[in-house]
Amino acid sequence: MENALILVVEDNTSNVKFIELFLETAGYRVCAVEDAEAAQKAIATTRPDLILMDIQLPGMDGLTLTSLLKKEPATSDIPVVALTAYAMKGDKEKALEAGCDSYMSKPINRPRLLEVMDQLLTAAKTHSVEPVPSPASRTGNQEN
Ligand code: MN
Repeated sequence: MENALILVVEDNTSNVKFIELFLETAGYRVCAVEDAEAAQKAIATTRPDLILMDIQLPGMDGLTLTSLLKKEPATSDIPVVALTAYAMKGDKEKALEAGCDSYMSKPINRPRLLEVMDQLLTAAKTHSVEPVPSPASRTGNQEN
């Protein structure tokens, strides 16, 4: 989904530059923040279409932030993709438990990440524009 707004929560400056460049090249708009608190402020101002969430952050970690967002009705349906440099056994399970919609370990496989993002954005869009079923009462006026 081109032109979608992606919030990148990542404290490593060179990772941010790399992610920003390839997302913008793919046609996405990018907002990058370096910690969970800045992410919360950004989300309160502008709702992102998807979040790329580094797990290891200074202060509140990415999984804690994800679980907070997933508990909040206003933000629970924003897809979150967890990114981590520490591909330890059990990390994926922890990420999914926290409510992340997907998980990828660094170094980032760009085609794979774009594919995952596209699937999540398409699914989120399908849910939000679900058509209202046409009322059955259309077929007959019961008022008189
Ligand atoms: Mn980090």
